[in-house]
Amino acid sequence: MSDNVDDSQAAEAKSRQTALDTVRCRPRGQGPDMSDGTARCRDCGEEIPASRLARVPDAERCVVCQEEAEQGRAESEAEDD
Ligand SMILES: [Zn+2]
Repeated sequence: MSDNVDDSQAAEAKSRQTALDTVRCRPRGQGPDMSDGTARCRDCGEEIPASRLARVPDAERCVVCQEEAEQGRAESEAEDD
């Protein structure tokens, strides 16, 4: 009975750690799309706010796309690897 709880907590912790690792251990900081001189999200093309770039200078995506990417990556991690 308690196994289900343990599994759930372990999976949640693993998922959270994966997201942290994704942010911390970027392969190579490509940074945002600067092709037109403006820092833009590589996914949706929206301008990335300066406040976000101040915190994450090599951010490749806006906050919305980054969250989606991290969630999708965590869920499909087994397939990617
Ligand atoms: Zn975006």
